[in-house]
Amino acid sequence: MANFETPALREYPIIPLIHAGTMAHSKPFVAKAEYQQPLGFPGALVDNWESVAVKKLGELVEESRALRVFLDSCVKCGACTDKCHYYLGTSDPKNMPVARQDLLRSVYRRYYTLAGKFFPKLVGARDMTKDVLDEWYSYFHQCSQCRRCSVFCPYGIDTAEVSMAARDIMDTVGVGQKYSNEIIAKVHKIGNNLGLPEPALRNTLDGLEEDVKDETGVDVKFPLDEKGAEVLLITPSADFFAEPHIDGLIGYAKVFHQAGIRWTLSSHASEAANFSMFIGNHDNLHKVAIRIREAALDLGVKRIVVGECGHAWRVAYSFWNTLIGPFDFLDRNYPVPQHICEMTYDLIQRGALTLDRSANDGKIVTYHDSCNVARASRMGSMPGGQFVIPRAVIKASVNKFHDMEPGSIHESTFCCGGGGGLLTDDLMELRVKGAQPRMQALQHVVENHGVNYMAAICAICKTQFAKVLPYYQFPMDMIGSVHGLVSKAIQLGTKE
Ligand code: SF4
Ligand code: SF4
Repeated sequence: MANFETPALREYPIIPLIHAGTMAHSKPFVAKAEYQQPLGFPGALVDNWESVAVKKLGELVEESRALRVFLDSCVKCGACTDKCHYYLGTSDPKNMPVARQDLLRSVYRRYYTLAGKFFPKLVGARDMTKDVLDEWYSYFHQCSQCRRCSVFCPYGIDTAEVSMAARDIMDTVGVGQKYSNEIIAKVHKIGNNLGLPEPALRNTLDGLEEDVKDETGVDVKFPLDEKGAEVLLITPSADFFAEPHIDGLIGYAKVFHQAGIRWTLSSHASEAANFSMFIGNHDNLHKVAIRIREAALDLGVKRIVVGECGHAWRVAYSFWNTLIGPFDFLDRNYPVPQHICEMTYDLIQRGALTLDRSANDGKIVTYHDSCNVARASRMGSMPGGQFVIPRAVIKASVNKFHDMEPGSIHESTFCCGGGGGLLTDDLMELRVKGAQPRMQALQHVVENHGVNYMAAICAICKTQFAKVLPYYQFPMDMIGSVHGLVSKAIQLGTKE
């Protein structure tokens, strides 16, 4: 365990007193040239970086009216100040959303507003200097782009967009983050975050078929690159090998098997995640996403279903249509894209699956709403479907379920602490401290209802919780997939 103090969990949430600068030291590793250049960014800080940064900021506010409105409209009402999990967990005032925005806003004012040009001090405008850049690098990598602050802002100011813009500017001047950019480069080259080539992926899937056959006696297939399949499944590559994700993949495969749906994975598009959203860069966002369209066309599928990944679902739900659409070659009877929970829910509603809840009787379950699903997308055709559908799938698979406190679920959910490109060991202190509000809500249901399992539909949340739960004295294996629960409960072979 790293050298810092894990925040205490209390009976009731307490807004901490300010401790200025406590997280000023927190910075992720900077990307070397080999991880910058494949993304089209300079390999190191460019000579005239100040003017390049200011120019890029100007381009971004020209392109995005929303960003300009966010930078122009804050009235400093303070409603967001205690809403960020990183402020609650670290007490560093620069982790208050309004203060984070001001890091960029102050530069915007200096160069793009009349008052800032002539009376900079009066309006809090600042020159673009190396100190400012360093501060950006630190504190814009202490925002998981979870959008919780925007729910409470009377103007709907979205700090996630501000943070994405700042990261895009930093990449443009040659100061990128190693973790995200290294991963994006792997997707460009091989097709997934892990750098898992096609033979290794095929081998893994064959192994899973054998495991499931040994366990159930049923030939559940994990097909790869199968032309003419009805469904292309796009899922996070973590699902292919790591606990607690792999149970989810087994669950999807059992659902497809039991429903008699011919499906396939793709070695060309073997990744649902799109970390380009975290660095706010449109060109890379498109380059990663287009592989999915290419795979769907090549394989001749009729539907695209997305596995359990929070930000991937946001990209799919909110951006795919304009980014890589139109999807006029797919079956019009199914939404594009469709979430795996939506598909399973639909099959449950139609009586196409038999689920034995008692198979999960050792588990008392709660559900963590992942930020990107909760606040940046929807699911199904009903309002709030992103809250209802995963819970309905869980409740069809288990007998014992308890939600966490209302202020910590649905659109008010707390980030796991590792989203937005921060799921890297060089940010462990931030990740542990940022998880404190979620851990506190979890503790409440553990103490009052005996909860011993937290389900989630996001690969980042699952990985983050497996790592930080022990810091708060919870077992690391109490986090798992929603489809891991389905996998246990589903009765194979009981339906035609
Ligand atoms: S988007 Fe989330 S992480 Fe970023 S400032 Fe707002 S609440 Fe904090
Ligand atoms: S809630 Fe909105 S308007 Fe109020 S300080 Fe925060 S960002 Fe500004």
